[in-house]
Amino acid sequence: MTALADAAPAWSDLAGQQAAVEQLSRAAAADNPTHAWLFTGPPGSGRSNAARAFAQALQCEVEDPARRGCGHCAACLTVAAGTHADVKIMATENVTYKIDEIRELISVAQDRPSSGRWRIFIIEDADRMTERATNVLLKAIEEPPPRTVWMLCAPSPADVLVTIRSRCRPVGLRIPSVQSVADLLVERDGLDPALALFAARASQSHVGMARRLARDEGARQRRESVVHLPLRIQATSDAVALAKELVEVTQQEAKASAEVRNAEEKAGLMRALGLEENEKVPAKLRHHVKRLEDSQSARNKRSVHDTLDRAMIDLTGVFRDVLALQLETGADLINEHLRDELASYARSATADRTVARIDAVATARHRLAGNVPPLLALEAMTTSFLPDRILDRRPAERS
Ligand SMILES: [Zn+2]
Repeated sequence: MTALADAAPAWSDLAGQQAAVEQLSRAAAADNPTHAWLFTGPPGSGRSNAARAFAQALQCEVEDPARRGCGHCAACLTVAAGTHADVKIMATENVTYKIDEIRELISVAQDRPSSGRWRIFIIEDADRMTERATNVLLKAIEEPPPRTVWMLCAPSPADVLVTIRSRCRPVGLRIPSVQSVADLLVERDGLDPALALFAARASQSHVGMARRLARDEGARQRRESVVHLPLRIQATSDAVALAKELVEVTQQEAKASAEVRNAEEKAGLMRALGLEENEKVPAKLRHHVKRLEDSQSARNKRSVHDTLDRAMIDLTGVFRDVLALQLETGADLINEHLRDELASYARSATADRTVARIDAVATARHRLAGNVPPLLALEAMTTSFLPDRILDRRPAERS
């Protein structure tokens, strides 16, 4: 069993993050947390999950401080569902936060908590704040209203201004090992070990994605169609058709994954409100449901973008595997189940071209984040996936 098996349930998503879990659960138990925290770690390390878990532990209603983050009380369930009145989670749909969004947060921060012990603000992409917005936030962090806790999340400490960083207590997360993610899926979710290992590897240790892959055959099939894409491109016309297919598959996956998650959150909220799953919600509790639906619909808008981004990570993984085979590094493959196909692909291409394809995926990812229409960004990318023998005939593009 992992050490996390002993921790309160709120922390159970944080596979391989023992140090952070100990630091945060100790702070939650001490009841006197620092008022500003900076969660950093590479994408998929779970920095926003860690912030949410910490928020659950701070608001949790159980008596025993060591068990805070019980995962079952109304506070824990509503924080998890994103509907707790005193936990505001900011995730921008835009490339940067607008200064007004930050100002609004700060004005709310002046109020006392309405029901919880703390008023908590989680800013999911603190690296996406403009300098002006950061300076507004800085004032609030310098002169914190009582019982307010700020939690900022960013890829690395260098991504936020030093003035902010120096006032926050750091929480560093790392990418968990494939094995620790697989163990988590087996121990907690009761999944088959072989399937858990496949999912942990294929998701590149992203816990949420791994669980989804291990549990949902449709999600596995959609991922397969993404990772097979480079192997299927044989002619220029394929590049266009497959870019279109990629957009469609991603939209289907985004919809399916949102439906599952929304239903789980709704069920959690109904339990938190003491209601049966299909019971009519009494008028005085309806605002909880409304708040959940609002946050879900904001997230649904982001979800197509996030899922497309995930597909980009999957494609990068395919070419990393190809490169590992070409350079004979002997590394484990992310797509171990496709080893034979990828080996034959690796023989048909040069390592230089593989590196160029990884770059093309990164460029497409960057352009998608900048709101370039998906098809446009993806066609340029899939064109670079054309077989070497076709690209060799295009002198202009030879590097
Ligand atoms: Zn609780």
